Amino acid sequence: MAAAMSVNIGVLSLHGDVIEHVNSIKTATKKLQANKLLADNVTVIVKEIRKPEEVSNELDGLILPGGESTVLTNHLTKNGFLDKIKSWTVNKNKFTFGTCAGLIMLSNTVSGGGKDSVAAIGGLDITCVRNAFGRQINSFEGKLELTDDNLAQKDPGIVGVFIRAPGIKSINSEAVAILCKFPEGVSSCGTGDTLSSAVGVRQDNVMACSFHPELTPDTRWHEYFVKEVVQRKINAV
Ligand code: GLN
Repeated sequence: MAAAMSVNIGVLSLHGDVIEHVNSIKTATKKLQANKLLADNVTVIVKEIRKPEEVSNELDGLILPGGESTVLTNHLTKNGFLDKIKSWTVNKNKFTFGTCAGLIMLSNTVSGGGKDSVAAIGGLDITCVRNAFGRQINSFEGKLELTDDNLAQKDPGIVGVFIRAPGIKSINSEAVAILCKFPEGVSSCGTGDTLSSAVGVRQDNVMACSFHPELTPDTRWHEYFVKEVVQRKINAV
């Protein structure tokens, strides 16, 4: 039997839906262990991250929650927080997951809707469009298709909660894998941009989706995330 280990997962806790991610990680870990997809002697510790020094080598996984990317940017540009996260995310032994505003911050290019006001962490070679589906009142739940077998766990159907969500306008590198999309496709959006149907992507150790999986009881995204964090830590040892 493999040696006992613990992994530290951080949820950026400056603003946005933090507690929902913390709870989703805890539930996902329990499910993985109940289904023998994660060894019982792996302990997953979830931490709320509020200070730059907490983004250290002790951390194995990081979630950037939804919220307002401009507000997040304001907080992060103080005290060198942004630079700390940027240099942490490029370490391939670590794994980062961004939802909604988190996707915006992880996109290498942000098009329209306040382009200059969002400081990119980057890591995903995509162009995203902020508020692509309209204003808060246009928020919606949509039926989506998971295109990655490990994420889908034999059921490609999933419902996504979109709250003033960003869209993905283009995927700019073959290194970006599409994990989730609108089955019917999307041709244009509220901003007049033509959108890709992709709403969930991954490039190596960085993953993001436009919607909020932490707001539904479906924990497949968090299960995928936890497995990835554990595997990268094992590979790094
Ligand atoms: N519209 C927000 C932004 O531009 C994102 C919304 C969300 O994270 N739910 O940052």
